[in-house]
Amino acid sequence: MNESLGAIEIRALAEKLQLKPAKSLGQNFVIDGNICRKIVKLAEVSTQDHALEIGPGLGSLTVALLSQAKMVTAIEIDSRLATQLPLTMALHSEKANNLTVINADALDIETVPGSPTVLVANLPYNVSVPVLLRYLEKFPTLNSGVVMVQAEVADRLAAKPGTKDYGIPSVKAAWWSQMVNVGTVGRSVFWPAPNVDSKLVRFTRRATPGDEQLRLTVFSAVDAAFAQRRKMLRSALGSWLGSSAIAEAVLMKAGIDPTLRGEALEVEGFCAIARAKHEMGIGF
Ligand code: SAM
Repeated sequence: MNESLGAIEIRALAEKLQLKPAKSLGQNFVIDGNICRKIVKLAEVSTQDHALEIGPGLGSLTVALLSQAKMVTAIEIDSRLATQLPLTMALHSEKANNLTVINADALDIETVPGSPTVLVANLPYNVSVPVLLRYLEKFPTLNSGVVMVQAEVADRLAAKPGTKDYGIPSVKAAWWSQMVNVGTVGRSVFWPAPNVDSKLVRFTRRATPGDEQLRLTVFSAVDAAFAQRRKMLRSALGSWLGSSAIAEAVLMKAGIDPTLRGEALEVEGFCAIARAKHEMGIGF
């Protein structure tokens, strides 16, 4: 059995389904089995893992995941692809029975059967950040993962404070996990070739710095700070907290210089602001 899907198989499948890849769904399919095996290796998928894949498409990554993981759950929005996937896996994987396909928008999913442990996906680029943040939030059993995203998005997810790429996705992702860029992927491994470069990001879950109530306040603070990222925090947080004077008082209580910009703060700095806001009873 050929446990790999290359350019020939992918094109034949697309022809069979009369599939015209939809840009709106980020349908750029990987046609190089080596890249898929590399992604699964970087994700350190073990035989004990329940892998979750968002957007399996025609199955090139799914087949590589099935060969390593105990089970795979794949969530695909396109019903033609979701219907075809088990049939393709039956022909290309000894472990096709370990696959569960859910035909749904990944952004609507609240639960999946079992407890997924690792997220491995070539994410649809237009929804990659909301999907990643949602799955980190909704599926605490996901300990780690590797996702392929647009290069700029990868840079933002893994960015450190004080850099031009540091922003809302960097801080929110850091609440849940440690994010590291682990590789670049050329355009020629996709059909059709996208007009953007891609990178691989590996994440490892960490203990969150606080509870759900704190997280909600931290995420609001982050949204407010980066909505006006060139402004000092006392001004950028003014409308969120009521006024610049209140923002200054909250920042002083948090031990943060009010003249700093949001881009200078690690997630822990935003936690200090959120705790000070709670302690001062602002917004309650
Ligand atoms: N994993 C496949 C591969 O590497 O060849 C396909 C990746 S392609 C970049 C993205 C896939 O995500 C497509 O199959 C697309 O139909 C699917 N998709 C797009 N938006 C989605 C959503 N909101 N929920 C679930 N799947 C989605």
